[in-house]
Amino acid sequence: MSRIQFDDLEIGAVAIELDPLDPEDVIRWGLETFGDRVAIVTAFQVDGSVILDMAYRMKRDLTVVTVDTGRFHEETYRFMEEVKERYPEIRLEVFFPDCREVEAMVRKHGVNLFYRDVHLRLLCCHIRKVRPLLRALGGFDAWFTGLRRDQWASRAAIRKVEIDHDHGGIVKINPLADWVKEDVWEYVRANGVPYHPLYDRGYTSIGCAPCTRPIQPGEDDRLGRWWWEENAPKECGIHCPIETGGFEHEVEAILGLAHGA
Ligand code: SF4
Repeated sequence: MSRIQFDDLEIGAVAIELDPLDPEDVIRWGLETFGDRVAIVTAFQVDGSVILDMAYRMKRDLTVVTVDTGRFHEETYRFMEEVKERYPEIRLEVFFPDCREVEAMVRKHGVNLFYRDVHLRLLCCHIRKVRPLLRALGGFDAWFTGLRRDQWASRAAIRKVEIDHDHGGIVKINPLADWVKEDVWEYVRANGVPYHPLYDRGYTSIGCAPCTRPIQPGEDDRLGRWWWEENAPKECGIHCPIETGGFEHEVEAILGLAHGA
């Protein structure tokens, strides 16, 4: 099947058209435009659960992609099973990091390198998340994300559809861009959507186990991520490029070191 492609100009016009629409209409546009060439990408946070629930009402044989970093909470694996039971017709595709890259990184920097400095944390995210997702998205022309503008400053200007230049120029669809957290939870309650069990234990943003913790009352939702870092982006590099060239260089360096070992 030939690729379904848009350029920046075309997608800019679509973004203007879709901006006032509800998430369901944006999802419908994505499914009708890309068919089986679009994937829902989720780390099983509540926003992704809402998108999956909405999309499943329109199309059953959805492709759902997740990247298992190898450092998830046990609860995430159990929740994955729950999602499969609730939405039995989805194709859940789990991608993993390249084991050679993980082995070389751990050999050089240790298993918990992320606590030492921001650069090492971003390197871990790059190897465990960014690169596997790059590979996963290679087979698609578009992806749905659960990004919202209210999540963090780096997300404040996202549009409902964008060209994703970091993933081969495919289309990134953000149906919940103009929703706020309360809208998401209202949908969950109204529709009985299953959600990750750690939300009931004070977590507000869920990623890898060593890098996520519950927040204190009044703290920003994303402060539970990489809480030990100061003045660093609360991003892993999947949704905004962070010195990508530098990481490619580092990955090559540690792999070279491993091969020479
Ligand atoms: Fe590594 Fe932490 Fe990033 Fe997960 S969130 S990939 S454990 S640095």
